[in-house]
Amino acid sequence: MLISLTLVSFASSAWADSADCVVEDIRLNRSVDGNHAHDLSPVGKNIGLPASYQPDPAAEPIPYEYITPVFREALVQNNEYIYMAPESLKALLSLIDDAKRDGIELFIHSAFRPFKTQCSVFKQKLNKEMQAGAVNIQDAIRRVNTRSALPGESEHQLGTAADLVTDIPGIGYQLVYDMQNTDSYRWLRMNAYKFGFVLSYPRGTAQQPGDPDPRTGYIFEPWHWRYIGVRNANKFVRCRNVSLQDFLTQLQSNPNFECR
Ligand SMILES: [Zn+2]
Repeated sequence: MLISLTLVSFASSAWADSADCVVEDIRLNRSVDGNHAHDLSPVGKNIGLPASYQPDPAAEPIPYEYITPVFREALVQNNEYIYMAPESLKALLSLIDDAKRDGIELFIHSAFRPFKTQCSVFKQKLNKEMQAGAVNIQDAIRRVNTRSALPGESEHQLGTAADLVTDIPGIGYQLVYDMQNTDSYRWLRMNAYKFGFVLSYPRGTAQQPGDPDPRTGYIFEPWHWRYIGVRNANKFVRCRNVSLQDFLTQLQSNPNFECR
């Protein structure tokens, strides 16, 4: 299944600002925790960020050479950028450089995504799901929400998560499950934590590709990596059967929390 979105969804918040993005009509019975104010916030289903949440310090533009070739030329031509929170961006560029030295190719497909952009992304997918014959809007929301976060529930709003791509034979630079069979993915599994990045949506106990992991509520996303700092990433990779959301929730009440 192809889970790729258009360039404009990721790169142009101006487009999102002008879109008719009525959030309330796609929001379920979710309460937003207004206390989130740092990049170790647990974010997931039913744990959302306020619409106004922005990375602090502000997200920085990602150098073009690190962006997927699929988007790069258009971004350069339009003088547009993809952004990421500074500390995580620095760590990610180091990760990509290090991978390259090992003969591994990785590019950034998307990173910081403001609330309004996520809203537009979700609505686009919702419209497609309805056109594809969803029974009703609630059913469509439920289905889309296994592969796309509701506005406020996306780690991309933190500015510390990135979708990474590599050239998959016969497929190219796409966000697809086949990434799990690449050397790039295997390298990430072995090394990303050393740079502070962890996989947010593992396959977990999902029965089939395309089924959501009951712990996260989302499908397996081998491309989605979140920065939580080297110390925390070292701890998290030792956790078994604990979602990142649960790990970070534990960490909030006990900074010395470790999985047993
Ligand atoms: Zn992602």
